[in-house]
Amino acid sequence: ATPTALMVGTGRGAQLGILIKGPEVLESTRKVDTVVLDKTGTVTTGKMTLLAVHNDENATEDEVLRLAGALENASEHPIAQAVATGARERVGTLTAPEDFANIPGLGVQGVVEGHAVLVGREKLLAEWEIHLPPALLRAKREAEAAGRTAIAVAWDGEARAVLEVADAVKDTSAEAIQRLRKLGLTPILLTGDNKAVAEAVAAEVGIDEVIAEVMPEDKVDVVKRLQAEGRSVAMVGDGVNDAAALAQADLGLAMGTGTDAAIEAGDLTLVRGDLRAAADAIRLARRTLGTIK
Ligand code: ADP
Ligand code: MG
Repeated sequence: ATPTALMVGTGRGAQLGILIKGPEVLESTRKVDTVVLDKTGTVTTGKMTLLAVHNDENATEDEVLRLAGALENASEHPIAQAVATGARERVGTLTAPEDFANIPGLGVQGVVEGHAVLVGREKLLAEWEIHLPPALLRAKREAEAAGRTAIAVAWDGEARAVLEVADAVKDTSAEAIQRLRKLGLTPILLTGDNKAVAEAVAAEVGIDEVIAEVMPEDKVDVVKRLQAEGRSVAMVGDGVNDAAALAQADLGLAMGTGTDAAIEAGDLTLVRGDLRAAADAIRLARRTLGTIK
């Protein structure tokens, strides 16, 4: 390897908005054949909005927003921020919850106005043997079929509402997937979110393979499993949840708009959070190596 060619490669990378950790990173780009993409914040903007509230007969919309909003206000999860912001717009100032706990990959729990409140996945409610009644289950299925994330709300042992939140697919994602395919990489969408939502997003950007409902700590195992199948894996992610998977991957690409943990774990940083830079990075690295050989 001539040091000059590597310098040129990394310099051009900086111009394209790609930060490369070290020249040894370039070598990993040669053989990658699979690219695992985190959904929220990587393929989508990660900026969620609360779109609808479906309350059951045992709760008013205002109650749902007050209790769920107060609880989510204590969490930094993008879904939580969407719920808290939407709630504040409609019911005003939110109170501080007591005994708040964040359950990664599932949701939040705590006490608001004397009620024991749960907000999150159906699975979180199921752990407390709380089940969605048919009307809420229907609202959940319809929301998910439309590509929205459905969040369940329960308090005092009863399911009360389903909230619909959604973020938008980045307008550069579909083109980025096309470019990655042209480089010979098979894209896979990886998310903790529901399968129906993941499939709707995948269809929108042109991804055929989806691995959904994966718990945060299990993302790294998905990468290991693919590697055990003999694949060479590039992983693109933005969240704290993605850090271990980024480190495990043969090539870790972190969104510059993401968390510090992801950026530290990655080999490359896509400064502008534009997924097209992932394809640019791989193409540039391979071309740089081409001049070296
Ligand atoms: P992703 O892998 O898409 O970044 P996470 O692993 O953070 O998502 O979360 C997985 C799922 O858990 C979310 O889609 C949501 O249904 C639920 N969830 C997690 N945190 C919260 C929260 N604070 N409020 C509501 N739902 C949550
Ligand atoms: Mg993410």
